[in-house]
Amino acid sequence: MGEKLAKLKDILGEVADLRAAESVLGWDQQTYMPPGGADGRAMVLSTLSRLSHERFVSDQVGELIEAAQSEVAAQGPDGDDVRLLRVTRRLYEKERKVPAEYVAEFSRITSLANQTWQQARAESKFSIFQEHLVQIVKMRRQYADFFAPYDSVYDPLLDDFEPGMKASQVKQIFDALRPRQVELIQAIASKGPVVDDAILYKHYPEDRQWTFGLEAAQRFGYDLQRGRQDKSAHPFTTDFNTGDVRITTRFDADYLADALFSTLHETGHALYGQGIPARFDRTPLAAALSLAVHESQSRTWENLVGRSRAFWKAFYGRLQELFPENLSQVDLESFYRAINKVSPSLIRVNADEATYNLHIMLRFELELALMEGTLAVPDLPQAWNSRMQEYLGLTPPNDAKGVLQDIHWSFGGIGYFPTYALGNLVAAQLWETILAAIPDLPQQIERAEFGGLLHWLRENLHKHGAKFEPMELIERVTGAALSPEPYLRYLKGKYGEIYRL
Ligand code: ZN
Repeated sequence: MGEKLAKLKDILGEVADLRAAESVLGWDQQTYMPPGGADGRAMVLSTLSRLSHERFVSDQVGELIEAAQSEVAAQGPDGDDVRLLRVTRRLYEKERKVPAEYVAEFSRITSLANQTWQQARAESKFSIFQEHLVQIVKMRRQYADFFAPYDSVYDPLLDDFEPGMKASQVKQIFDALRPRQVELIQAIASKGPVVDDAILYKHYPEDRQWTFGLEAAQRFGYDLQRGRQDKSAHPFTTDFNTGDVRITTRFDADYLADALFSTLHETGHALYGQGIPARFDRTPLAAALSLAVHESQSRTWENLVGRSRAFWKAFYGRLQELFPENLSQVDLESFYRAINKVSPSLIRVNADEATYNLHIMLRFELELALMEGTLAVPDLPQAWNSRMQEYLGLTPPNDAKGVLQDIHWSFGGIGYFPTYALGNLVAAQLWETILAAIPDLPQQIERAEFGGLLHWLRENLHKHGAKFEPMELIERVTGAALSPEPYLRYLKGKYGEIYRL
């Protein structure tokens, strides 16, 4: 390895170490830290994020990126080091525009806001969180202005999660999707109550839910030598390096589907993290291509696999064995229909596949309005409730079940939500390609064999780390640009059968 590249990798390694330390502390904050630790933790995270930022945006890093170019010239355009320099330069040019004081202050504010949000959600009072959200929106506007000029003030935020994507593209995709999803939901609603999911709302002791979820996760291929599961208010996956990729979940002892599907979901994220090659550790290549691609992996395992008939042919017996009091008299088909019931609901993470994207569109529109200044933070709960009514015909009984349900705004993640809906689209598009490559995949899943699917995902996506532009790789792998059509075909096929549309 050339001397400049080696020096650059040393620095990138230190930056990655600092960020891994931040991630460990962030994970701890969500899992085990007592509430009294909030202020102290905010300071530690603020210091670490400032240090990693300063280390990364130094003049020296910029010089080394340029000087190392000639050392990698012999590699092809897809060589690891060529791509490393390209990805690093992109991140460097972005981060250089953000002052260290901003980074430290934003970390401090969001760390405190996150704690306040947890309290606000627990007490179901938006007013507790309101001032923190005002500060966050203000700081996010400042952030966007570091990247002016832009088409939309939302673009620089979105770009952090979905490199290269613009608010106008998201709008266009959502505008194409919305009427057809609404049409499908109305067609389903017109059939009346043909699916009953009451069996999911019985008492399911937490320890047995834990057992089933983790068993399924391991069958999917989640390696507990390089991972673990804990509990948190909002399920998430975090990785410190490719050898330590953790998931969290949460339980509702009176609703089976919450922990069950969020565990399968986070497992999908974790399989991605564990599939990134260890040689990328301590570099910016040890990351997902984008959040939409990350979400496509969680959706694949949660929905395309986890809500399929084939999966339950393999696993329903085990679930009945764990919960005989509730399920011994319920046949597989009734259970399959129950977990696929379409019904407008208040909580995004529990939404069925047909209504899920409407939850995202609502959030995207509201955060866009907050950023553009056409909606003020104090008016947010009202705006939330009226749009819920408009899209899903429901009004939340309180803020906890409405505007306070998601963690994202509390950590400053404005621009994050669209990647969830895009992830659904990516998952469906990949799935059509996978089924063409592995025609007997449903039969494999019926036998609880997931090696073929995981191998395909590893070979086509995971092994690249963050080497490529996300939408470019999706196009390369599936042979087409990202489109809502495969997703709509999937929904129509599945629900057409369940609801006899
Ligand atoms: Zn996810």
